[in-house]
Amino acid sequence: GRVVSPLADGEERVIEGALRPKRLDDFVGQPRVREQLNLLLRSALRRGRPPDHVLLSGPPGLGKTTIAMIIAAELGAPLRPTSGPAIERAGDLAAVLSTLQEGEVLFIDEIHRLARPAEEMLYLAMEDFRVDIIVGKGPGATAIPLDIAPFTLVGATTRAGLLPAPLRDRFGFTGHLDLYQPEELGVIVRRSAGLLGVKIEDGGVDELARRSRGTPRIANRLLRRVRDYAEVRADGVVTKELTRTALELYEVDELGLDRLDRAVLDALIRRFGGGPVGLSTLAVAVGEEAETVEVVAEPFLVRHGMLARTPRGRVATRAGWEHLGLTPPASLDL
Ligand code: ADP
Repeated sequence: GRVVSPLADGEERVIEGALRPKRLDDFVGQPRVREQLNLLLRSALRRGRPPDHVLLSGPPGLGKTTIAMIIAAELGAPLRPTSGPAIERAGDLAAVLSTLQEGEVLFIDEIHRLARPAEEMLYLAMEDFRVDIIVGKGPGATAIPLDIAPFTLVGATTRAGLLPAPLRDRFGFTGHLDLYQPEELGVIVRRSAGLLGVKIEDGGVDELARRSRGTPRIANRLLRRVRDYAEVRADGVVTKELTRTALELYEVDELGLDRLDRAVLDALIRRFGGGPVGLSTLAVAVGEEAETVEVVAEPFLVRHGMLARTPRGRVATRAGWEHLGLTPPASLDL
């Protein structure tokens, strides 16, 4: 797959487990969310009650799953991980909810993809710690209420805007994760290099931190690829020069744009004259799902001021034209 995709595949999950910070104090960056969560957890522990339900939003690879695990660890509670797409029917969710232990942390990744009936069951569970089991069909169907243990739901979504209001409103705490600053990614790269036993110089750390699209998952992945390169083509030490050469091989450019980012920018400018163009048209032009373009490529291009989302569609900015080595039209005022 793409070296810089922020989505993890199966094998990567194993490595990621080893690199995940286990406690809130080891979690780098996101100072506001960290401070707010700290208060939420401390006060819940003082009261001896499960904290309010937590909704985490933000692009993939920024630490939502990690935070869910940290919440459970800080509370000393078990974690039950599942995801929106894994829960196909309300019955699947009922089976999970009815077997939760008191205080357990239920993590639902991609909660915006929950099926409607499951979502409705979740409302009641979140609010009253109860599920209605429907027995029978048609006019004879009856709802049998079943109490469930008080639990804390941690929901993660790449698209908070897609959550229906009744679901969003049932979370007592909402934290939005932003792309990381290079300095924060530098700390993460250094820590991961230590855990993986990779010898890396400061210049290598800086280069990786600057070119990882603001995303810890990508920083960790590029570190491993640069490590491979250092072991096979050099003496195993990751220097600045070596990092630059290796990243070029993996098609990560100076600013950290990968192939998809450049394809989006390129299509926007060369095929649509810089826009405005609608998201779905743009996605078709690069042969990707609209959701991938929207949650993976765009936040990064927007952050770097190369693409703007306007009411009329996506528009390339002057910086976008210039990054491709093109002269923006004189009339462009973005
Ligand atoms: P998400 O659930 O948002 O897709 P994850 O929690 O799975 O992201 O994080 C992806 C990887 O990035 C994990 O392996 C984790 O080690 C690393 N990571 C994410 N956030 C941080 C952080 N703040 N500090 C250190 N490592 C992090």
